[in-house]
Parts: sequence; C-alpha cells; structure tokens
Amino acid sequence: MSGLDSPVLVLNRLWQPVHVCGARRALGLLFIDHAHVVDTDEGSGYSLHDLGSWLDHSRSHGGRDVVHTVSAKVRIPAVIVLREYDRLPLREIRFSRQSVFERDRFTCQYCGNRFETRDLNLDHVIPRDKGGKTTWENVVCSCIRCNTRKANKLPAQAGMFPLNEPKRPRWRPFFDPRATASRSHSSWTPFLGGIGAEVVIPG
Ligand SMILES: [Zn+2]
Repeated sequence: MSGLDSPVLVLNRLWQPVHVCGARRALGLLFIDHAHVVDTDEGSGYSLHDLGSWLDHSRSHGGRDVVHTVSAKVRIPAVIVLREYDRLPLREIRFSRQSVFERDRFTCQYCGNRFETRDLNLDHVIPRDKGGKTTWENVVCSCIRCNTRKANKLPAQAGMFPLNEPKRPRWRPFFDPRATASRSHSSWTPFLGGIGAEVVIPG
C-alpha cells in the first residue's frame, strides 16, 4: 500500500471515531488546519500536533511511514482529530468497489453473511447484458458463491433479491470501524473500544 493511500482514523471533537480516510486527505485536513494529528507513539497519553509541530516531529522521525514533499518529509499520521466539525465536511462518496462493500457492511446482499474483502464481489442486480447499469442503485455486495449462482439472471429468474434496496449513500452513516479492522492500525484500538472503553483526552 502506498503511503498516501494508507488508512487514517478520523476522530470528531469528542474523540469518537467517525471515519477512515486516506493519508492524502488526512494530510490535506492538517494543512488547512481542520484537523490535528494525534500522536499515538507516547507510552501514556497522546500528544496533539498542528502542521508546524508535526513537521518538526516528522523531521526527526526515523520510521518508514513518511512521504516526501518537495521541501520536507512528512510522517503519515495514524489518527487525526477534527478541530471544528463533528463529521468530515460533507462530500460526495465516489462509487467504487470498496465503497459499495462499506455501504453494504461487507455483507453479501443475497445470503446475508459477512465476508472478508477478498471473498466478496460486486453483483449487478439487473445484469449488464439486460441493460443494468454500474450504479449505486444497481450494484450490491455479493459473496462469490451467490454471485456465481445468480450469474446473469434477473432477480426474479434466480429467485434472489438483495436484502436492502441498493441506494446511493449520502454521507457515511454506515461507518463501522470493525468493518475496516482488517486494514486498521494497532494504535486505533483505544479509540475503537466501543462501549465502556475510556479514552483519556489530554487537557
Ligand atoms: Zn452470499
């Protein structure tokens, strides 16, 4: 995975996980001062960095989790915290294999079982050869077995209908950190603890 695509956990002002974005976007938010980096390296507690202090930190950082810009070395953050928003500014979600998987919560829309990404496919509800389009409204997450069984039949012909009507997601109301756990960073764990977990917010 290239550095700028590596996943970064996004926390809101209450330090609740709200999103996972790519490092490119996380650094963009840091550059415009919409987010600070949560440095999770410290043994106890976390330190917060704005752009200036993160660049200072990056300069002396010896790890390989860095990207190089024309004039500086920037360490890829693992966690950022938004400064002003409870959620990321609303943004159109790009249609992609991964975002369909996320919308459908990594759950096959035919058998209802949850799978790892490698065991999932996209299924055209109305098959392409019958005029079905590659859109949010016609594509669902399907396991390979169901996908093979449905083949290029119409739902009624196959007797297979998606569990949820496929729709374009608005924001990411479906953010579920556990769904992204396979690509998560160990330093996210304290923030994903869920009920009962306490995150100490530095003063
Ligand atoms: Zn299935």
